[in-house]
Amino acid sequence: MSEHGPDLVVAGAGGGLVGALRAAELGLDVVVVEASEHAKRGNNTAMSTAMIPGAGSRWQREQGVDDFPSRFVDDVVRKTKGTADVGLATALAEVSAPLVEWMADHLEIPLSLVTDFAYPGHSALRCHTVEGRHGSVLLDHLTRAVAEHPNIDVYAPARVTDVRTEDGRVSAVVVTLPDGTTDEIPTPAVLLATNGYGADHAAVAQHAPEIASAVYHGSEYSTGDALAIGTRLGAEARFLDAYQGHAALSKKAATLVGWATVMHGGVVLDSTGRRFGDETTGYSEYAAQLAARPGSEGWLVIDREIHDRCLAFTDFRQTVESGAAVWADDAAGLAAATGLPVDAVVDEIAAVGRYARGEDSDPFGRNSFEHEMAGPYAAVAIVPALFHTQGGLVVDGHARVLRTDGSPIDGLFAAGGAAMGISGHGASGYLAGNGLLPALGLSFLAADAAAASLDMQRTSS
Ligand SMILES: Cc1cc2nc3c(=O)[nH]c(=O)nc-3n(C[C@H](O)[C@H](O)[C@H](O)COP(=O)(O)OP(=O)(O)OC[C@H]3O[C@@H](n4cnc5c(N)ncnc54)[C@H](O)[C@@H]3O)c2cc1C
Repeated sequence: MSEHGPDLVVAGAGGGLVGALRAAELGLDVVVVEASEHAKRGNNTAMSTAMIPGAGSRWQREQGVDDFPSRFVDDVVRKTKGTADVGLATALAEVSAPLVEWMADHLEIPLSLVTDFAYPGHSALRCHTVEGRHGSVLLDHLTRAVAEHPNIDVYAPARVTDVRTEDGRVSAVVVTLPDGTTDEIPTPAVLLATNGYGADHAAVAQHAPEIASAVYHGSEYSTGDALAIGTRLGAEARFLDAYQGHAALSKKAATLVGWATVMHGGVVLDSTGRRFGDETTGYSEYAAQLAARPGSEGWLVIDREIHDRCLAFTDFRQTVESGAAVWADDAAGLAAATGLPVDAVVDEIAAVGRYARGEDSDPFGRNSFEHEMAGPYAAVAIVPALFHTQGGLVVDGHARVLRTDGSPIDGLFAAGGAAMGISGHGASGYLAGNGLLPALGLSFLAADAAAASLDMQRTSS
């Protein structure tokens, strides 16, 4: 590192590590500052299901999946009802396939395309993932690559608490250590990758009250630091009401049951034993719908075949291994095992069978029941959860943080939950993978932009 400090400071060792690795590959000296000693297990990237969209990847071509960035953007526009920032969605869709291919080729992360089911809202099979479909595996690969790279130093535990500017350009970051002392690192560029404000209950209650009573299932360090730092520097913030919810957190095990259950044909019953909507619209918006039902909890009902197909997910496996699923041979038995009203459960499961066989249409409009469930049935008690917030600092397609007048703050970048996402407003615009794509993709784009800007400065000096 030069006496003037690193070329880039990355605040946050989640998706931000992609920015550190990309920048280091481009020859930059990088320091990663991470607030938590336990980020490898506790941040959102580590907690995730590791689904990363890539539109037009080589894995898709191998599987004959016809996909391309504008198709992905169309899906984003449809899911967000036209409210997402199309410029940002386009930049992320365009980088999505190069990103996953770079991660496989340059970081040696074994990725594959998920082909056994499609997540709601994606018109093509485009989610790529790692072994076990768990973010801890993804983050292990990223931290291994960081540890191996001579151009990257990691400073942890230490919290980025401010960014200094001179003449409108980033000049240093202020770091606060656990003993309260502060340190200042001179640098011309900072990538804020500290996630959103999901752990700040008051901020969630203010911006997304519909989900404020739900369980928060995300990083405890998501306290909105980037938002505070960026707005102090004059940055604009948008989509603060946007969030990723999930309707299927196991009540007993506090693990993710997962929505593959639903996409394979499972259904959600509320505490009266009744379905209350089309589950396939999306797990994110279903969280607030479940939160609004009596008792704010429900049961996810599947059968043996769905159970077996979902074992590919580490989270699902852990859920069933914890004993969170109750089993019964038939619907009446399931009612007894769950304590739900027997008439309602028998009636609902019979109705779902008719919808699956095409003998009747679902009054909620669900038209995809992948297969007709048959006993034995399993049910898992579920509660709605908030995973992370999706609003944040306004960025352009190079991850540059913008002021309210649209001008970039030179040297300031944001990614992931720190930046505004591409999910529009509320919960319903969230497409699976659109948490990690802004986290990894904007970090990648920020590194490219930081390197280009450094090149320009070196050429002109
Ligand atoms: C159970 C679950 C499943 C999910 N599955 C998926 C999925 O399959 N696909 C998908 O796209 N999204 C998924 N998500 C969402 C996804 O995990 C997040 O959108 C994404 O990981 C956010 O990345 P990030 O880098 O912004 O935040 P994080 O991964 O949380 O990283 C931020 C880091 O910054 C650190 N930090 C915080 N403040 C500071 C500070 N001031 N200074 C220094 N460091 C700081 C934190 O400790 C943390 O390590 C899931 C989320 C959950 C909870």
